[in-house]
Amino acid sequence: MGRRIIVCHLYPDFMNLYGDRGNVIVLQRRCQWHGLEPELVERSLADRGGFSGYDIIFMGGGQDKEQRAICADFQHMKGEALKEAVEDDVPLLAICGAYQLLGNYFRTAQGEELPGTGLFDAWTVAGSKRLIGNVVVKSDLSGQERTLVGFENHSGQTFLGQGVRPLGTVVKGSGNNGSDRTEGAVYRHAIGTYLHGSVLPKNPWLADYLIGQALVRRYGEAGLRTLDDELEERAHRAAIKRTGETTP
Ligand code: GLN
Repeated sequence: MGRRIIVCHLYPDFMNLYGDRGNVIVLQRRCQWHGLEPELVERSLADRGGFSGYDIIFMGGGQDKEQRAICADFQHMKGEALKEAVEDDVPLLAICGAYQLLGNYFRTAQGEELPGTGLFDAWTVAGSKRLIGNVVVKSDLSGQERTLVGFENHSGQTFLGQGVRPLGTVVKGSGNNGSDRTEGAVYRHAIGTYLHGSVLPKNPWLADYLIGQALVRRYGEAGLRTLDDELEERAHRAAIKRTGETTP
């Protein structure tokens, strides 16, 4: 029997911007390439239940309109169960609008406050100018310094409290708020980030980080294969080059 990995895709019908769904495809494909048996479960509005039975949880970005549509359901029907799963070390990846709703609140440009689940000790306030463009970030999440590349487009500016650490430091682009050079948030194995793109195809190390953590949690060890990531690395380098950065 192969080792099974259950990926939970949250609100696939609402939260999907700039190819975020590609992250789920990457998780599934890389699991297969690593000799694992991936299974996909989709969860959306009006469904209640725990998340600790899943191995990886993913939620994509969404505009204010989609965030508004899921906000109450997310907070009241999923929030506590998600926190329990993260406390139980389930890896989670949340992009942009999802990241914002996992903080304490998102105050929109109209002054309306969308409450978050409070998983991340962070808050988001819409700024007067959108932060748009390609991003390069340095991150030591995996225990060594790596780069992350992606695309951002958000009005929200996110600020981190004491209870979270940033995913990385901005080399190019704006990241969390365009002022303190932080990008994203990490709490246990939960990661929030502004990077769309989608982010995992051109940052395969991040995909393997999530899969590796999931394997350690369920099976006690990661035991990932070394994959040929030549194409992915080329995409990664091309994305860096596009920003005018010269370092790999
Ligand atoms: N609506 C949010 C903002 O503009 C999130 C957008 C997104 O997910 N790209 O800040």
